[in-house]
Amino acid sequence: MSQYDVAIVGGGIVGLWTCVVLQDAGYKTILLERSALGAGQTLASQGIIHGGTKYALTGKLTGSSEAVRAMPGRWKQHMAGEMSPDLSGIAINTPYQWMWDAGGVSSKLSSFFASKLMSSRVQRVAGEQLPDALRDKRVYQLQEPVLDVQSVLKVLSANIQACQAEVVSVEADATGRSRLSLNSAGKTAEITAAMVVHAAGEGNEVLQRVPMQRRPLHMVMVKGELSPLWGHVIEANANPRLTITSHTAINDGQTVWYVGGQLAETGASLEVAELIALAKQELHGVFPDIDWQQMVWATLKINRAEGAQADGGRPDSPVVEQQGMQITVWPTKLVFAPMVADEILHRLEASQLLPSLSTGEAESLDHPDLPVAEVGQYPWDNANWV
Ligand SMILES: Cc1cc2nc3c(=O)[nH]c(=O)nc-3n(C[C@H](O)[C@H](O)[C@H](O)COP(=O)(O)OP(=O)(O)OC[C@H]3O[C@@H](n4cnc5c(N)ncnc54)[C@H](O)[C@@H]3O)c2cc1C
Repeated sequence: MSQYDVAIVGGGIVGLWTCVVLQDAGYKTILLERSALGAGQTLASQGIIHGGTKYALTGKLTGSSEAVRAMPGRWKQHMAGEMSPDLSGIAINTPYQWMWDAGGVSSKLSSFFASKLMSSRVQRVAGEQLPDALRDKRVYQLQEPVLDVQSVLKVLSANIQACQAEVVSVEADATGRSRLSLNSAGKTAEITAAMVVHAAGEGNEVLQRVPMQRRPLHMVMVKGELSPLWGHVIEANANPRLTITSHTAINDGQTVWYVGGQLAETGASLEVAELIALAKQELHGVFPDIDWQQMVWATLKINRAEGAQADGGRPDSPVVEQQGMQITVWPTKLVFAPMVADEILHRLEASQLLPSLSTGEAESLDHPDLPVAEVGQYPWDNANWV
């Protein structure tokens, strides 16, 4: 039976990032993904490297906006190849986004954006620097990039041992190690690990007893003759009315707008046709010059999986819970992945788990008889368009 220092359950952003960090530190690590890498929340995310500005919209800096503020800088170091994981090979969809108001609250927002609190985060932009669709609006530029998440997953998974297998159970054996029962393409297998990191998103609830909460979203996808656009339509509210990211559909090269924000939260209780009707109305209100009847539409129901909060609200930061030699994580946001991986490395050291490999030895690991986990598809490359 293959034996590991660490087994990671789940191949989303956190599982992959953590696997690279632990392997770099000399831990003999295996990652187990039941489906495809990123197939949970990660490939369904909008790929925004938040710096917290949208959470500051209420006019004061909340816990969320402060915790996330350092993250764009941290990601930049990885994207410049200055820190491991080296993300210099990833694709960046846009280096910045736009933020504009939906009308009616502009003077309040303008003075807020001009305040000392916000002036380092946003910059007023007008005229030809703006995409056509935004020329008539009061627009601010936000230095928060949007990444091609699939390219991030490809780079992270290139040099680690990521296997396609569902972890069915985790039991402690007589020596205190964990015995993981796996199911892969109908075959069963077992491995053991000194430490198990549960990074399975919603799947953590099945294997662990750490309380979790789901926040349901219903995202909208619209495809057609659209110019790429990245940004937030805001109101004097903590949540943008619409958050739009743009992507290219793999089969026909057309632009897809992937739309979240308040629309996706309201949409969680709506049927597909009702949400599409609401999205048409909302988008027409913001972009009346675009012919929305010419577009094709699809939606995606997806839950955010988070560590449980007393009030059920959005956590400010990642949740990392340790019970003996089991660590359960929910990053809350993709951007927090580096912070979570640092914390897990710290917990391993604090648990006096020593790496059994010398640095760089990872490539010579014995390979269990399991298929390699591949990177998954984006929701818009797998959607039923209407
Ligand atoms: C619609 C949406 C938009 C978002 N936009 C952003 C954004 O723009 N910026 C941002 O920072 N954050 C965003 N987020 C949040 C972000 O996507 C998540 O916080 C992050 O992707 C969670 O990563 P994860 O690795 O913890 O989990 P996941 O990505 O959910 O990965 C968990 C993996 O575990 C696997 N798994 C489950 N059970 C098992 C098992 N028993 N055995 C083996 N494998 C298992 C699953 O198949 C899955 O691949 C968004 C989330 C959603 C839903």
